[in-house]
Amino acid sequence: MIKRMLLREVEYARPGSVEEAVRLLGAHDGARALAGGQTLVNVMKARAASPEVLVDLADLSDLRGIARSADGSLELGAMVTYSELVRSPAVAAARPVLAEVAATIADRQVQNRGTVGGNVCVNDPTNHLPPLFAAMGATFTIVGPGGERTVSAGDFFLGVYMTAVEEGELLTRITLPALAAGAGDALEGITLGVNGTFLVSAAATVAPGSVRIALGCVSAVPERATLVEERLSGAADLSRETVHAAVAGLGDTLDPPSDVHAPADYRRRLAEVCCERAVLAAAKRAKG
Ligand SMILES: Cc1cc2nc3c(=O)[nH]c(=O)nc-3n(C[C@H](O)[C@H](O)[C@H](O)COP(=O)(O)OP(=O)(O)OC[C@H]3O[C@@H](n4cnc5c(N)ncnc54)[C@H](O)[C@@H]3O)c2cc1C
Repeated sequence: MIKRMLLREVEYARPGSVEEAVRLLGAHDGARALAGGQTLVNVMKARAASPEVLVDLADLSDLRGIARSADGSLELGAMVTYSELVRSPAVAAARPVLAEVAATIADRQVQNRGTVGGNVCVNDPTNHLPPLFAAMGATFTIVGPGGERTVSAGDFFLGVYMTAVEEGELLTRITLPALAAGAGDALEGITLGVNGTFLVSAAATVAPGSVRIALGCVSAVPERATLVEERLSGAADLSRETVHAAVAGLGDTLDPPSDVHAPADYRRRLAEVCCERAVLAAAKRAKG
């Protein structure tokens, strides 16, 4: 009788420090970091990926913290889970939208296991956090054999499953700048079913005199809606009429994919709708 294994045989390591994790990742060709496993284990089951060594980050307490710095920025360790975002007083005080968004990701199991680092390292265009972090102006700290470096969201997301984290490196933390006085964030999207996969999403951070918008699911990386940002940057108010006029034609500037769930033209239209909703929701929060 042929026994079929759920996963191919794989070596497993559970380092106790970031340095050891980086050394293990660099020492083995085909080694992969294991965070919450909510994507990686599924792709291993489907045989879409077959790493030879899994370097489990579960014991790296340095990657688990949520803290506010003296300048008001929020530091998220890469291994912070969605459930921890939901419960965190620091998140509630600094960027409350993060907790609200985390509470809508998939289901309780995914929220208990899935991590912020895994979410952005996958960079699945349908994931919630890449556009949100891009709109917030997040920076990403990466550690490798050569030391530590920090990259902006614009340089971090390179393609589906592709980020600035190179082989042998680890994402250690994500830093969100302090929300300016009178500023607000929002993420809006159209999903397949309740708390389902996004067809299109849009995140916005509105501050006095500036609007940052990032769209999800319209390309391989979060796409800044610079056209709308420019139109709104000098706007005297962010009324429904002003925002509606500003998003007009946004869809024509995009080249989204067509798939079984939505043709490209439908996604273009959804991008305008989501963008308008996100800016209005962020503006409403900004007013308090
Ligand atoms: C049923 C289901 C529904 C889902 N729906 C959604 C959804 O609607 N929205 C959403 O945003 N997500 C969704 N997800 C995905 C989920 O959010 C995953 O948790 C996330 O994509 C990956 O995070 P993880 O911690 O599980 O990472 P893992 O699966 O462990 O790792 C994913 C990848 O990132 C790499 N990696 C992880 N951490 C690091 C690090 N610190 N440094 C370097 N590389 C690292 C791994 O090597 C691997 O290649 C869903 C998952 C499931 C199972």
